[in-house]
Amino acid sequence: MVYPKFVADTFWSFADPCRLMGARYPAPPLGLITVAALLPKSWDIRLVNRNTEDLTDHGLDWAEVVMTGGMLPQQADTLNLINICRRRGKPVVVGGPDVTSSPHVYCSADFRVLGEAEGILDEFIAAWQRGDRSGTFTAPKFEIDVTKSPIPRFDLLKFAHYLHVGVQFSRGCPFTCEFCDIIELYGRVPRSKTTSQALAELDALYALGYRGHVDFVDDNLIGNKKALKLFLPELKNWQIARDYPFEFSTEASVNLADDDSLLQMMREANFFGVFVGIESPDPATLVSMKKKQNTRRDLVESIHKIYAAGLFVTAGFILGFDNEKSSVSEAIIEFIEDAAIPVCMVGLLYALPNTQLTRRLASEGRLHADHEIAATTGGDQCTTGLNFDTKRPLLEILSDYKRVLERIYEPAIYAKRLERLALLLDRSRSRRDLPDGDLRGRLSRLDLMQHLAKALPETREPFWRALTVCGRKNPGATRIIASFMVLYLHLGPFSRRVIEAIDRRIASEESSLNSEIGSLIGAQIASSAL
Ligand code: SF4
Repeated sequence: MVYPKFVADTFWSFADPCRLMGARYPAPPLGLITVAALLPKSWDIRLVNRNTEDLTDHGLDWAEVVMTGGMLPQQADTLNLINICRRRGKPVVVGGPDVTSSPHVYCSADFRVLGEAEGILDEFIAAWQRGDRSGTFTAPKFEIDVTKSPIPRFDLLKFAHYLHVGVQFSRGCPFTCEFCDIIELYGRVPRSKTTSQALAELDALYALGYRGHVDFVDDNLIGNKKALKLFLPELKNWQIARDYPFEFSTEASVNLADDDSLLQMMREANFFGVFVGIESPDPATLVSMKKKQNTRRDLVESIHKIYAAGLFVTAGFILGFDNEKSSVSEAIIEFIEDAAIPVCMVGLLYALPNTQLTRRLASEGRLHADHEIAATTGGDQCTTGLNFDTKRPLLEILSDYKRVLERIYEPAIYAKRLERLALLLDRSRSRRDLPDGDLRGRLSRLDLMQHLAKALPETREPFWRALTVCGRKNPGATRIIASFMVLYLHLGPFSRRVIEAIDRRIASEESSLNSEIGSLIGAQIASSAL
């Protein structure tokens, strides 16, 4: 099993924080190790994550068959791997979300396994065992019973390579956001594992000696609140019985803030952070992207409510929606400051394959050619987004986007948000200590500050001040505030690289506009001369 490389420099790559913490990559490939658990016991499996280690000729020669696949930002390396395998005469099987959304892009693979593996892998195995050496297998959509999903083969992972490990409780999301491919891939009726099944996965991780940060990679953990509320009290007991070996994060819709009991259950189970998709502070834009769950509420208040429950929030924002106004950049900046969200993934709208948005843009004739082909260079949606004709002038959107990044990741402004977060994040009822053996415990605050001052001297004064304010007013939150400083090692320089890339995109757009205008004027002069 070979996990393809992600494009090099993305918002989520966090290379410098990984280096500082002694890890090689943020998270391991949960999908592949779940597939590994579905394969016959007699098959001998080796896992190579190309983001953390090299795939050697020797490793490739050892295998009878190579299984690979991943997401859109891994597309280029997946195609590269298929070529490598074919050159060495190794049959290659590709699966995962990107081949499911764009099977035609992966025609060169010997086998394509489309959809959720639990529903179709048996057919591939049977075909392989009877001697077939090519084929496409498609799982029925949204019908896979995740309660039958096996415990992932965590034993194939080298835990020391990662900042955290992922587990999954549910798939799917009940909402309808127009740009989202989750609901197309996994459906709108969330399917949850049973409590005993989810705890058995944690038992497996625990038995292998893993301690520390575990991320629930669910599309929306609170999609099925009923199942979650059965699970969380048991998770709390499980944690208490083992003296809290894990600290959890996840992704959830903002209506989490409406449910006090759910927030309390999450805190008691030792959740410490949640990613929330805000996308835009403008209600009209939210309605037009069909993200109604974010409307009819005070979004800042919702975020602060989550802080009051002891969980920090990281959030996603997108620029480039059709009816967005030119004031959007100031509105986003103001929102981020008021809500005091340190880490914000601000990207450009990307028409992902197989979404309502992409179908609408196609019907309006606005999609760019090869919109489903991932860029091989230039990063993620921060730099390569807007793969369609925008309604607002492209130059205006790019300038607005740049303005947001310039402001929110300016070191003093980032540090001020940390100071404000330190006053809002109530960690008084949360577990303060890290589990023994947690990789995050290796770095002292003094070492961190010295490293930051050396790597990014401009952070020295404002970051010290934020840490001092936090230590004085809310010592329980100091560890979390310090961890946001570690992340800035990536976010500060990354945002500056994105700004430079956007500057280049603006310059190239201006020059093609100028040459278009030049040709138009030329044509007009020629026609009046005639
Ligand atoms: S809430 Fe998140 S996962 Fe659910 S449809 Fe919207 S973007 Fe997709």
